[in-house]
Amino acid sequence: MYVCGPTVYDLPHLGHGRFTLVFDVLRRYLLFCGLDVTYVSNITDIDDNIIAKALREGRSEVEVAEEFEARWWEAMDQLGVLRPDETPHATAFVDKMVSLVAELLGRDVAYEAEDGIYLDTSRVDGYGLLAGQPLDSLRAGARVETAVTKRTPLDFALWKAAKPDEPAWDAPFGRGRPGWHTECVVMSLDLLGDGFDLHGGGLDLKFPHHENERAQSVALGRPFARHWAHNGWVMVEGEKMSKSLGNFTSLTDLLARSDPRAYRLLVLRSHYRAPIEVTAETIADAERGLARLDAFARRLSVSSLAAVVIDDEAIGVDRDAVARFRALMDDDLQTGQALALVFDLVGQANTALDEGDSESAMTLGRTVLVIAGAMGLSLGGTTDVADDTVQRLAADRDEARAAKDFARADALRDELQALGWVVEDGPEGTALHR
Ligand SMILES: [Zn+2]
Repeated sequence: MYVCGPTVYDLPHLGHGRFTLVFDVLRRYLLFCGLDVTYVSNITDIDDNIIAKALREGRSEVEVAEEFEARWWEAMDQLGVLRPDETPHATAFVDKMVSLVAELLGRDVAYEAEDGIYLDTSRVDGYGLLAGQPLDSLRAGARVETAVTKRTPLDFALWKAAKPDEPAWDAPFGRGRPGWHTECVVMSLDLLGDGFDLHGGGLDLKFPHHENERAQSVALGRPFARHWAHNGWVMVEGEKMSKSLGNFTSLTDLLARSDPRAYRLLVLRSHYRAPIEVTAETIADAERGLARLDAFARRLSVSSLAAVVIDDEAIGVDRDAVARFRALMDDDLQTGQALALVFDLVGQANTALDEGDSESAMTLGRTVLVIAGAMGLSLGGTTDVADDTVQRLAADRDEARAAKDFARADALRDELQALGWVVEDGPEGTALHR
């Protein structure tokens, strides 16, 4: 998967929070299904906004980018978003971007203008297919920002000619810096290869950013992403009303003022392509949902619930419920219904407990943990979910104990403890909690 990452010049906003959560849920679900996932998400560390901020504040572009990249990862860790397998930084790939632009010039699909190199979109087969709109309407939209030097309004900059006070790199076609659309096509193809499986991002990136990434790949005769996924908008109420309701100014602000799991629960409630509203009220409502889950986890005691999942074989869970969960997620990620299933199972387990049927309650409870965990949602007031590595270590420890290899079992316990987990021997093997 390649998911367009942030341009690091400011605090992450609510839209950043949504796309990272949506694709984190998809990634975790694919892993849950037993697929190998390589997740690549870039950091754009050179761009107009970074340069403008650096100039305004008398700092270097590198300082600005490093500061806000650090803030980015802080927010991602709080959200419980898994770190990408690869995080390419645009400035580390400039050589490859230069080669790509040179090749496009060589193929005569790009041209030199006064202020840089542009792609001639009229020479790209099927330009506009991804946007799914007539070229006329795309042209009308592009006209607002049309540079005088472009041949047609839809052409876009592959390379921006060097200006005084701006960082620039050498290239055979003149010093300058890469255009944003060129960054992502180079990094995705380089790290994932031609015809990689999935390209994701927010709906706002579909056109022109993703269309233009694709256009470059098509112009080079290289197969690009085989599937695309775009998540819907984040809606906020009018400025006046948002102030009176104490709404959130950034993702960092939201995370400072709410349970970090609340945004994930809010995102899961809606289909990923639908718009969502992030306000003080919708977040408070999500927190009430979390309180129900946490109360349930406390009632059953999370540590005694911990299920060990080994290659899709969860021990002591309701297999029918897990099958229902998979059917919902396989249907274009019906997370809202999957979440409703979680709450339904919680209700059933509470009823079973009320009736003194603790065995059924434990089975349902473990099922809740497995399904919620597959969507990255943790219970019991902790944001920590045992990842694949931790679950594997626990499973290995159980195997070692079964084989009476206690030296190895102890070594694995030490390893788990070093990772911050309390290791207990439950009736069904290793039980873990933070
Ligand atoms: Zn991108």
